[in-house]
Amino acid sequence: MAKNDTMEKLVSLAKRRGYVFASSEIYGGFGSTWDYGPLGAELIRNVKEAWWRDVVLAHDNVVGLNASILMAPEVWKASGHVDHFSDPLIECGNCRKRFRTDDLANPEQCPVCGKKELGEARQFNTMFKTFVGPVEGDAAVAYLRPETAQAIFVNFKNVQQSARGRLPFGIAQIGKAFRNEITTGNFLFRTREFEQMEMEFFVEPEDDERWFEFWVKERMEWFQRYGIPAGKLRLRAHDPDELAHYSRGTSDIEFDFPFGWSEIEGIARRGDYDLRQHQETSGKDMTYFDQAKNEHVLPWVVEPSAGVDRGALAFLTEAYAEEEVESAKGKLETRTVLRLDPRLAPTKVAFFPLIKKESLQELAHRLQDEARFEWMTFYDETGAIGRRYRRQDEVGTPFCVTVDFDSLEDDAVTVRDRDTLKQDRVGVGELMTYLREKLAWR
Ligand code: ATP
Repeated sequence: MAKNDTMEKLVSLAKRRGYVFASSEIYGGFGSTWDYGPLGAELIRNVKEAWWRDVVLAHDNVVGLNASILMAPEVWKASGHVDHFSDPLIECGNCRKRFRTDDLANPEQCPVCGKKELGEARQFNTMFKTFVGPVEGDAAVAYLRPETAQAIFVNFKNVQQSARGRLPFGIAQIGKAFRNEITTGNFLFRTREFEQMEMEFFVEPEDDERWFEFWVKERMEWFQRYGIPAGKLRLRAHDPDELAHYSRGTSDIEFDFPFGWSEIEGIARRGDYDLRQHQETSGKDMTYFDQAKNEHVLPWVVEPSAGVDRGALAFLTEAYAEEEVESAKGKLETRTVLRLDPRLAPTKVAFFPLIKKESLQELAHRLQDEARFEWMTFYDETGAIGRRYRRQDEVGTPFCVTVDFDSLEDDAVTVRDRDTLKQDRVGVGELMTYLREKLAWR
């Protein structure tokens, strides 16, 4: 399948089956914003759950935070975002379209109208501004956060003291971020509203390279753990002139998307930039008392910052496949399958009575009721069983449980595996244990 076909087919499947809809679709959509439908909402929840488990729960020295999106505007002045969080923008003198300089294949020629009338690059701040309170004046300006990280920095002392954090330790947060991107596109890849999974890992200044290496390795392994093959991931170190204003070194984890290698996560060495800026601007002490050294230090920071939506898009594109399989009648047919890791798959188990017969329906419902509080489940009794399987394959459901006539005799059901197509006969009493084993997080 040609690479670009995959994207087109995925976007169409996503809409048709309730993964992703264009936002405000009945009004013609709204500038690169997307809504997750029933299955998408579940996928996103699972991506975040996977991250939280592996970054927060798995580490003794990482704790969570859930801060508000609106913050004092001084935060963004101190952090450097008001002055530096901008993209170089070029306008075409002919068609007036605007582009990010790094999106131009030919820096002389407009990619829309083809005229060679591109102007000088100028800086465009990508923070969204809004007003707080009833008066719309400069004094009431607030920003929608362009990254979740700043809330972690300004809460550093609160968290460190209440959780009694000792270096090295991390504070993690998942939440929405907003950027008024000049050029958007590639579906969920670049949007103006998205979610980030960020962790600020505070270390002794002399340890920052070691912890940078540690988190790069952890994060590369994380994507592989949930289904991205090593060959489709690469690490790209930023050139010095590409570095964000706060960074002393950043590497991006890139994924081989159908539209080319692109960033899904950035891992930055932020040094003590942020804590120092907030200390100077707020006048509040942001140091940590290092008992071993008997001195106050400003910790340095290693930051893995991943996009929920970009991650989900990477998992989805990797999972999408079309393949020839043999039908029940022995004919070859094409099936579309989303080979999502079972832990990320929205619906984990579908329950089917072979036909609409009360005794089969009852047992299928009873089994579903046992499973529904652990996973998202689905019940379907309409159409031929083969068609029901295909529908679940297409949305990535890893297991289908079928109750047939024999079930009433042998007290067992058939569990079909989405990937191997193998069918296991499992005793009704053992079904939950069987599924729990297959769906375990670790
Ligand atoms: P890019 O260069 O693609 O604009 P960035 O380097 O500005 O990304 P970071 O500031 O490092 O991105 O943000 C960390 C992560 O947040 C990115 O790796 C990405 O997964 C996610 N992210 C950033 N901007 C967007 C966006 N506009 N839409 C969706 N996800 C985003």
